[in-house]
Amino acid sequence: MNGASTRTIAVLTSGGDAPGMNAAVRAVVRTGLARGARMFAIREGYEGAVAGGDRFVPMSWSAVGGILHQGGTAIGTARSDRFRSREGRAQAALNFLRAGIDSLVVIGGDGSLAGADLLRQEWRSLMDELVAAGHVDAQTAGQAIAFSIVGLVGSIDNDMSGTDITIGADTALHRITEAIDAIASTAASHQRTFVIEVMGRHCGYLALMGAIATGASFVLIPESPPEVDDWAAAMCERLRSGRQAGRRDSIVIVAEGACDRHGQPITADQVRRALQERLGEDVRVTILGHVQRGGSPSAFDRYMSTLLGHAAVEELLSSPPGSEPQLIGMKDNRVTRQPLIECVERTRKVAACVSSGDYAGALELRGRGFGSALRTLRTIVRALPHPPAPGQKRFRFAFMHGGGPAPGMNTAIRAALRLTLDRGHRVLAVRNGFRGLVEGDFAELGWMSVNGWASRGGAELGTNRRQPADRELYTIARQIEKHELDGILMIGGWSGYAAIAKLHAERERFPAFNLPMICLPASINNNLPGSELSIGSDSALNNIVSAVDKIKTSAVASQRCFVVEVMGRRCGYLALMGGLATGAERVYMHEDGVTLADLQRDLSSLREGFRRGKRLGLLIRNEDANPFYTTPFMCALFEQEGGELFDVRQAILGHLQQGGYPSPFDRILATRMATDSVEFLIEEAGKGPGTGAAAFIGLREGRLTLTPFEELPRLMDLENKRPKEQWWRQLAPIAELLASPGPNTAS
Ligand code: ATP
Repeated sequence: MNGASTRTIAVLTSGGDAPGMNAAVRAVVRTGLARGARMFAIREGYEGAVAGGDRFVPMSWSAVGGILHQGGTAIGTARSDRFRSREGRAQAALNFLRAGIDSLVVIGGDGSLAGADLLRQEWRSLMDELVAAGHVDAQTAGQAIAFSIVGLVGSIDNDMSGTDITIGADTALHRITEAIDAIASTAASHQRTFVIEVMGRHCGYLALMGAIATGASFVLIPESPPEVDDWAAAMCERLRSGRQAGRRDSIVIVAEGACDRHGQPITADQVRRALQERLGEDVRVTILGHVQRGGSPSAFDRYMSTLLGHAAVEELLSSPPGSEPQLIGMKDNRVTRQPLIECVERTRKVAACVSSGDYAGALELRGRGFGSALRTLRTIVRALPHPPAPGQKRFRFAFMHGGGPAPGMNTAIRAALRLTLDRGHRVLAVRNGFRGLVEGDFAELGWMSVNGWASRGGAELGTNRRQPADRELYTIARQIEKHELDGILMIGGWSGYAAIAKLHAERERFPAFNLPMICLPASINNNLPGSELSIGSDSALNNIVSAVDKIKTSAVASQRCFVVEVMGRRCGYLALMGGLATGAERVYMHEDGVTLADLQRDLSSLREGFRRGKRLGLLIRNEDANPFYTTPFMCALFEQEGGELFDVRQAILGHLQQGGYPSPFDRILATRMATDSVEFLIEEAGKGPGTGAAAFIGLREGRLTLTPFEELPRLMDLENKRPKEQWWRQLAPIAELLASPGPNTAS
């Protein structure tokens, strides 16, 4: 704790509820308490601020226990007409003053944040008014230091400038993909067409990303209306050719704010009628509605909101009172701050662009990622690829996996294949990883061969950890020559990377290896070089979070401590992020090691917690945290020493972490990475035979970057098979702070 604060901070949630708000409130309250501030929650948003009284609730450490996994907002939200008036804001200011509150964290949409900014601007004049009206004496008003505000964006729509993603948007995408995956199977069974309306108001983010994640056939979004007047004809033509090409399911996603190029709304029902009348199809409409807001927050929404809540309090405590309000958001996978009102103004500009028909402007303001996602989607939803240009060189690329299975592998293959075929080139699938490469187990893939793969878990091409032996290199070289390969895309984990590194290193002896090769990171362990995230790790985290949620509820009636073992080999990513997302009190990972002294300290902290009335303990252990202090050993130790105070159970989550459908985030990342990988292969192959560039693609500070294989030894801790720099390790102190029993309170 760096210096106890004398500040009194309140937190409120306002506007529509969003999953993840609870994680943010928990982090705000606990960070504030840990830093010595007095903490309040204002129930029912600004309505509660105006009402005062019992809506102002002093918060203890334990008051925010057990809410991390809950959807909605535990402190209530509302829309308040009273707060829109100056009178209402004066009443709210008086209530804040009486409670001694000098700082406010507002979690809401652009309306709520605009309201917060207004309150801060008016603060001094409101004080004067309150004195003039005799509600407070001049001395009290004069002593009230300037009011400070920070904002966090809670909105499923992801429609706010100043942050790449808003609290709740990832969970909403989970709900959308779950629903569309389910509908797709019934649509395929009956060869039916479904029209799905998704939320988002002026923002097409949920519709666009939902379409990428589910492989929908057509999408209508506000920022990019169909380019022709007769949009219905264009849409029907697209769906008709899809059917002719063999698609059994047709799904059209309509954003609630979708419009034609003259700004006239396009509704789900209009789409249904057009499809029925022009195609004679059996069409059903599903309006997903409030299902999208509901349910338990995704792993990402839990840990991101936790980081934002923590940063909000740090921002308040480190800036002079009354500073310009800041919006705390995520940019390029990092927590950032920007002047709040500028973000509100930029957000409103996008809506203004859409309503004035300036679609190019709207797309530009949405940012790079949005536009390129739209371009990629337009290609991968085609019924057939564009024909090759006359006389163009048609390359032959091999696509394969290596390493353990990771959810999202199929999504990446689907996107990479279609983007490659659409550019006039050909793709050979190598089955069963490097074994298939040795044995020549190749098959040419056509456009429809990956139909339905966007949402499929596992790895349809097959994958394993086998690496080629030295004596097999000659055979591999022969296979490359025999199949006239112009490049290789390997989507996989560490063994796949190591195998490609070997081929690249042997290119002097085997000139056949002098061809473009690219690795795309797919591993639940998130232990690959040159990328902050690998495909599959978000799905695994979600699997961990839902398993731990269930484990926790199994222990309601007893005093019990769980030791949950998660995968990751020697990389603690899943353990630490799983700990942040589930509120575990302790995370053990190989990077930090585990000593007997650690175990003794944790044991006394558990004993102390249970003695004070704690009912549940949760410890997360990375599978390779320590070879001697294994999960069974730790359980036995704690069980024996816990005595009558608590009992201990182990839960080794095992392969359930690798299974299931890929999460929307993994599907979107797979598609983005596949797009750039294909670009690399085509460009490198175009340089002519023998160029031999080999690289791995990765996400670094939000951008996709390519790193040449020569950099591998500099980036990797080869002994432990993990990157030397692991950005997420800086989050460990936050996990520790929020999980500790808290200052002078029961946990
Ligand atoms: P969502 O994205 O879920 O709609 P939001 O924060 O944009 O969230 P709004 O209904 O626009 O939702 O705003 C929530 C509340 O914030 C309003 O009911 C009102 O109390 C307050 N508010 C909004 N705009 C203003 C404003 N210009 N001045 C003062 N208060 C405002």
